[in-house]
Amino acid sequence: MNPFVPNYVKARKDGSLAIKIARAKELLKECTLCPRQCRVNRLKGETGVCNTGTKVLVSSFSPHFGEEPFFVGTHGSGTLFFTFCNLGCLFCQNYEISHKGEGRETEPDGIAAMMLALQRAGCHNINLVTPTHVIPWILEALDIAAAKGLSLPLIYNSSGYDSVETLKLLDGVVDIYLPDFKFWESDPARRFCNAPDYPEIAKLAIKEMHSQVGDLKVSESGTATAGVVLRHLVMPFDLAGTEKVMAFIRDHLSPNMVVNIMSQYRPCFCARKFPELSRGITTEEFRNAVKITRDMGLTLVT
Ligand code: SF4
Repeated sequence: MNPFVPNYVKARKDGSLAIKIARAKELLKECTLCPRQCRVNRLKGETGVCNTGTKVLVSSFSPHFGEEPFFVGTHGSGTLFFTFCNLGCLFCQNYEISHKGEGRETEPDGIAAMMLALQRAGCHNINLVTPTHVIPWILEALDIAAAKGLSLPLIYNSSGYDSVETLKLLDGVVDIYLPDFKFWESDPARRFCNAPDYPEIAKLAIKEMHSQVGDLKVSESGTATAGVVLRHLVMPFDLAGTEKVMAFIRDHLSPNMVVNIMSQYRPCFCARKFPELSRGITTEEFRNAVKITRDMGLTLVT
């Protein structure tokens, strides 16, 4: 069997990574990197919804054992948590990082060093958490890290609030997409994330991701090497619209999609300002979401 070669290594070799870095930086001049389309000049330090100009903050990097089993393997998923977020859910469980800006300023060579340290620690992948607003710096870091021998699969772990144009820059760079599909209806997305277009954006984004890398593929040793894995957080009172999300996935993306139905919702950050968000989910709500997904024939992460 041919040894695994990550997409970004191939892109560096054929010269496309350098072109993508230049194009991604170009988007920062009038920032349209994500669907917020703030049009601020981030190269001059101006900031939009994501609170990030030219300074990229990393909150932490470490082997993580709480991810899906095919990412964790025996030595963990090499997670890199970026500070701030382009979606900014008002119920975020990581609000100290996503809203309050906890993190340390890190240049691309520093990010590359973190990636290489995770590889030395035996991690099975590089798992970029909340990467959307810092893509140009990530691409630069990959260029540096690949030159120094980084060879792990790259996971793009986002909220699903990604623009197709920017995702096309990641085509041939990312190996695995790990998007959320948070809400089917516009109203909760508007109220809780100030993003009424979230459902339409997420549909297009996840379609683009799937067109690039297809369904999940795992190595002989059982760790993921390519594909899309979808995450869906069950919300109280079915605010996420689980049945419609899963029907869309089955009918318009792939009946073979691997889906992680997540149970960990609890009221965090500003959630208690909204009566519907003020409790965790019930066992019945979780079981129902799992049953819906299973009945649709999608593959559940267990
Ligand atoms: S990446 Fe940030 S500044 Fe750029 S459009 Fe998105 S939220 Fe606005």
